[in-house]
Amino acid sequence: MNYRYIYGPIPSRRLGRSLGISPIPDKTCNFSCIYCMLGRTDHLTNEREEYFKLGDILAELDDALRHVSPPPDHISIVGNGEPTLYLRLGDLIQGARRLTSIPIAVITNGALLSEPAVREALAEADIVLTSFNAPTEELFRRINRPCPGIAFEAMKQGLLDFAHMRRRGQLWVEMMLLEGINDSPETLEQTRWVLQDVEPDRVFVDTPIRPPAEDFARPVTPEALMLAKKALGGAQASGFDFGAFTIAAGADPLETLAGVCKRHPMREDQAIELLVNSGIDPLPVLDALRADPRFRVEQYGGQTFFLVREMNGGSA
Ligand code: SF4
Repeated sequence: MNYRYIYGPIPSRRLGRSLGISPIPDKTCNFSCIYCMLGRTDHLTNEREEYFKLGDILAELDDALRHVSPPPDHISIVGNGEPTLYLRLGDLIQGARRLTSIPIAVITNGALLSEPAVREALAEADIVLTSFNAPTEELFRRINRPCPGIAFEAMKQGLLDFAHMRRRGQLWVEMMLLEGINDSPETLEQTRWVLQDVEPDRVFVDTPIRPPAEDFARPVTPEALMLAKKALGGAQASGFDFGAFTIAAGADPLETLAGVCKRHPMREDQAIELLVNSGIDPLPVLDALRADPRFRVEQYGGQTFFLVREMNGGSA
């Protein structure tokens, strides 16, 4: 089934099989992170709008929930950009909840946590996963390259206010580690102080594993990732895990891979694992993917990735 606002389910180590809702146009964000797998932000904005009609999004979700089998583990509101820019986010969460009892997660860069209306909306989610990549204004600007008008201190205070308000669900925080940029012991120590005040339910550390917007946004080594996890008080590694994920019987394998690639550049070995786990011969499908003009192949970190053509390379 081809939808405009709904995608997946896609596999996620943090959220299991997650059915995504994208309530904003592609690459619409209030950051232009140096590590973004979507490339540089071409629509940098901090204006909240009802980009798409709420009723249209919920109608698609209703239809998808009737067709996706087995049911997903989570509904995730994310998109190729920043979902809190969707003005009716609170109505979207509540509307989705009327359709299903599946837990609803929102994945955000946290910039708009400074706004009371956004905190109120997010307080209705079962999980809010927010980024926090830098403990200082200078590092924040270097890594996240925010839209003019977004101030680090207001964002940090917003995170603290959200953490300590009456909320329905859990607060998870993720830090993207970049070699030589935010991986020093001092930066990790300062980050730990902030997180001590936030008291999130879970902390994740990640590093770019797909082509980033800027070549200088380099991943840290597995050893550095391990040390950072310890420095942050036992954070977990996140990432994209195909584990037990399979392509549903009767689904078109090429279109399923296309749907995943549209949201996350996909490693060749992951595509092979997914196809083999689904009992599908991988070679003809990969040949078709290579020949499909919607996609391109890119080498990064010694690995082969499939990307959609307009994509440069990680999202919040
Ligand atoms: S990584 Fe997320 S927050 Fe950063 S530019 Fe990309 S979509 Fe926006």
